[in-house]
Amino acid sequence: MSEAVADIAVIGLAVMGQNLILNMNDHGFTVCAFNRTVAKVDEFLANEAKGTKIVGAHSIAEMVKLLKRPRRVMLLVQAGKPVQSMIDQIAPLLEKGDIIIDGGNSEYHDTNRRYEELKAKGIHYVGCGVSGGEEGARYGPSLMPGGAPEAWEHIKPIFQSIAAKSGSEPCCDWLGNAGSGHFVKMVHNGIEYGDMQLIAEAYHLLHESLGLSYDELAQTFLQWNQGELDSFLIEITANILTYRDEQGECVVPKILDSAGQKGTGKWTGIAALEYGQPVTLIAESVFARCLSALKDQRVAAARVLPGSSLPKPEAFNDKKAFIEHVRLALYASKIVSYAQGFMLLSEASKVHGWNLNFGAIALMWRGGCIIRSRFLGRIKEAFDTNPNLQNLLLDDFFLKAVSAANNSWRIVTGSAIFAGIPTPAFSSALAFYDGYRTGVLPANLIQAQRDYFGAHTYKLISNPETSVHTNWTGR
Ligand code: NAP
Repeated sequence: MSEAVADIAVIGLAVMGQNLILNMNDHGFTVCAFNRTVAKVDEFLANEAKGTKIVGAHSIAEMVKLLKRPRRVMLLVQAGKPVQSMIDQIAPLLEKGDIIIDGGNSEYHDTNRRYEELKAKGIHYVGCGVSGGEEGARYGPSLMPGGAPEAWEHIKPIFQSIAAKSGSEPCCDWLGNAGSGHFVKMVHNGIEYGDMQLIAEAYHLLHESLGLSYDELAQTFLQWNQGELDSFLIEITANILTYRDEQGECVVPKILDSAGQKGTGKWTGIAALEYGQPVTLIAESVFARCLSALKDQRVAAARVLPGSSLPKPEAFNDKKAFIEHVRLALYASKIVSYAQGFMLLSEASKVHGWNLNFGAIALMWRGGCIIRSRFLGRIKEAFDTNPNLQNLLLDDFFLKAVSAANNSWRIVTGSAIFAGIPTPAFSSALAFYDGYRTGVLPANLIQAQRDYFGAHTYKLISNPETSVHTNWTGR
């Protein structure tokens, strides 16, 4: 077959590619499947894709011939060299106006570069974040496309019909040019690191401080999932803690406590430093994973380094009240994490001229993806009400929520510190909050020190236009 029958080609027949193809097929699109290891194309057609309209290609040239114009080619291959290698092979066979979409977790600087290189050849390049894992890809992912705006009208019908829906709204909208889609996906993943760390800290704290059993912990997360914290990650935490193995035991304590990572959290931390934004909770969550990976060192240190010998914190004596304090502390910390994530998006948007729509981003994350939650609906409302909102913490709803949690947050972090139970994300969120609401910080002393040893100068509050140097030693 060499007739142009396919609406889109998908390259990469691993988990994500196969499921997205089946999803596109369900929505009436004819998809051409291709994979570097060509044998997988026939396997896929004979099994998962049997009885569908999906067609296969055994070479890139054949794939190109099967595509309607403008040709739409979506990559779901490993980020890095594999993406580049596929682009290098496809681009010479495409024509001006054709579209390449990278649906993998590519680093946004790579996407910026590829966008420029392909623009010079007249090819429209799109970097599209895809979230929701296997299940999302199959039945409705969150899709975050950005790149060449000319591509949007040609991919919009496919993307918005296969995306998850929040009410009737698709969790997919155009973000901006160049690498904006992959940047937003990167921040999404960073926020995912933060959410997971906060939940893990709540679980650990409740287990260590109150001695809650795994059944009680599962019940607690189930209850939390009925309220403000309602989210996919709280739901799966309850399910994980409910699950029993063949021995009838909870699996979590049997799992090696050394967390893996693939890099998107680290990239978010690096971006936070690059753009000068205090995205402390995500960075702390990445470091918490790094610390967890030092298992041997921790086990050795546990034998020698003393913990707390202070009396048991009073708050641990009232089980019901402390569980509620932890719930509120988790909620407040989560608000800080999202506030920080949007600060980073806002700064990058300014620097690159992406003109990101924050309400639309919250909607994209509202369904389909790993961080989906009821809470994101509130974030969308906050940015819809005030698109120029400087910080989520200043929105009426979130200001009230954080105010209501304020004391619980301090009781929880204070008690955890008192008892020697690590809560890095809860604590860094509170430290950020207190820093953000402090009108005068000790940065005045830092400026004086800098001027003392390096003559870096400082500015006076009374005259911020002029740099001043003091001869501190009189020498
Ligand atoms: P993956 O394991 O990341 O990648 C496997 C695919 O990459 C296979 O099709 C493989 O082809 C191809 N590949 C590897 N090296 C290649 C090369 N040098 N040239 C051409 N193709 C090459 O697959 P995945 O888990 O489906 O993920 C695809 C992308 O989506 C990744 O960027 C991933 O980070 C992102 N993502 C994954 C998830 C998830 O839950 N898995 C969620 C969101 C986003 P062969 O069969 O020939 O080896």
